Amino acid sequence: MRSLNYTRARTAAEAVQAFTNAGGGARYISGGTNLYDLMKLGIEQPAHLIDIGSLEGASRVDTRGDYLFFGAGALMADVAEHAEIRRDYPVLTESLTKAASQQLRNMATVGGNLMQRTRCLYFRNGPGIYPCNKREPGSGCAAIGGLDRGQAILGTSPACTAVSPGDWPVALTALDAAVEVLGMNGPRTIPILEFFRLPESAPHIEFALSPGEIVTGISVPKTQAGRRSTYHKVRDRESFAFALASAAVVLSMDGDRVESAHIALGGVATRPWRAREAEVQLKGQSLTHERALAAARASFAGASAGQHNGFKIELGARTLADAIMIAAGRSA
Ligand SMILES: Cc1cc2nc3c(=O)[nH]c(=O)nc-3n(C[C@H](O)[C@H](O)[C@H](O)COP(=O)(O)OP(=O)(O)OC[C@H]3O[C@@H](n4cnc5c(N)ncnc54)[C@H](O)[C@@H]3O)c2cc1C
Repeated sequence: MRSLNYTRARTAAEAVQAFTNAGGGARYISGGTNLYDLMKLGIEQPAHLIDIGSLEGASRVDTRGDYLFFGAGALMADVAEHAEIRRDYPVLTESLTKAASQQLRNMATVGGNLMQRTRCLYFRNGPGIYPCNKREPGSGCAAIGGLDRGQAILGTSPACTAVSPGDWPVALTALDAAVEVLGMNGPRTIPILEFFRLPESAPHIEFALSPGEIVTGISVPKTQAGRRSTYHKVRDRESFAFALASAAVVLSMDGDRVESAHIALGGVATRPWRAREAEVQLKGQSLTHERALAAARASFAGASAGQHNGFKIELGARTLADAIMIAAGRSA
């Protein structure tokens, strides 16, 4: 048995101070559905847990003003059941209802969902068996040339091909969300695409956070296009499983012509992936399934597959094309 210190914080500022006082080896814990799992697997071994599960005001969801605001401590289940979000931003609701199970969503927070670690087989099952640059920097990557069916095909590097696991961050990426954080130097806001780092040569540094910074919330600029949106997810098992391929699509249409498209991909990349090529190809087009598929394929032109995950290129494109047609079929 390993002993550890435990502090329950009452405010975000108190949590940041407790993290700093702990002097290294500390971790924030919220719903615990990912961190406790990793502690049991021996992947995370914190010396100090800072419990942020009941911070004052941390579960606030606010739809007034020009931005939607989701406190980092809001439960996935509560946000999934929010009637106004469901009506005006189905892409957000669906990214939550298709993530994990009801029991997990009752525990897990939207902030923790952003920060969950990859499900890469070699990352999770490998301590003492397989090398993993994310787990042990510089040790190598057993997934490259190994069982790579679940691995990423976009945004990979010679050091890491692990998929970014969350569904919610993909929907947030399509909506140009920003992550609100607090550290010892005060608050700051990080655009969502910058929040998630590409693996490059340092896959163990996954987020653009300084040590001790806490996520306090997520803000999403409001858009009329939100109603014409969807999160479409393909997985091995419909009841609950991580994405093999997914797409978040937000469309602005004039009749059958696409005025603008905001698109992000999940299950195929090392971070939530903005599909700019598809966005550009769709703009101004009268929409047909054929055109949606051509645009979707353009976003996979730079994909690079290993031995067993080449199927994700076509699956990803077809998933995106279907998502575009689902979103287009919704009324604004
Ligand atoms: C069987 C199973 C199936 C799942 N399927 C899916 C799925 O299909 N799709 C999906 O998206 N997810 C899935 N998940 C993952 C689940 O959604 C995450 O475990 C959950 O969202 C994490 O939230 P949490 O509050 O429990 O985080 P915790 O476990 O408490 O924390 C996770 C990480 O985030 C850090 N952290 C948490 N909150 C903050 C904060 N405010 N600021 C800074 N750091 C923070 C912690 O230090 C830790 O490193 C699944 C999980 C399981 C166990």
